[in-house]
Amino acid sequence: MMLRLRSVLSLLLVVITTFLVSCSGPAAKVPDTYTPDRLAQIQLYATPVDEARQGMETLGKFVQENNWIDTRTYIHGPLGFLRRDLTYLANTLLPSDQKAAKNFIDEIFAHLERLDVAAQNKNEAATSTEYNNAIADFDAFLRLIPSDAEAS
Ligand code: ZN
Repeated sequence: MMLRLRSVLSLLLVVITTFLVSCSGPAAKVPDTYTPDRLAQIQLYATPVDEARQGMETLGKFVQENNWIDTRTYIHGPLGFLRRDLTYLANTLLPSDQKAAKNFIDEIFAHLERLDVAAQNKNEAATSTEYNNAIADFDAFLRLIPSDAEAS
């Protein structure tokens, strides 16, 4: 019985080792530099994000005017795909930059959600603060994008 278990275990070990080796082959190696291919991909995903960054200026105008309704409509409408677009772009970055990028995405959305609530409560001070913080985190996110890939 013990012998049998031992041979099952060693067979299992062979299977696991084979699996691990096949998973860490050269194809699975993560690139650690921005290759021209990767830069082209980044440029593609950066386009909707650049548009959204321009949209943030429109949002800023509504916030400044204390236009609560348009502020809320803009967050849920034109900026409705922002999280998806930012995540697509973050996923094209080098693994070393992705964690920081995803933290900034969480930050941007925490501020936009609070901005939404502040606009609902017609809270002038809070809308300005949350808007400014959202912009600061958005720009910090953009600084992670390699400049060679920025839309020309
Ligand atoms: Zn923040």
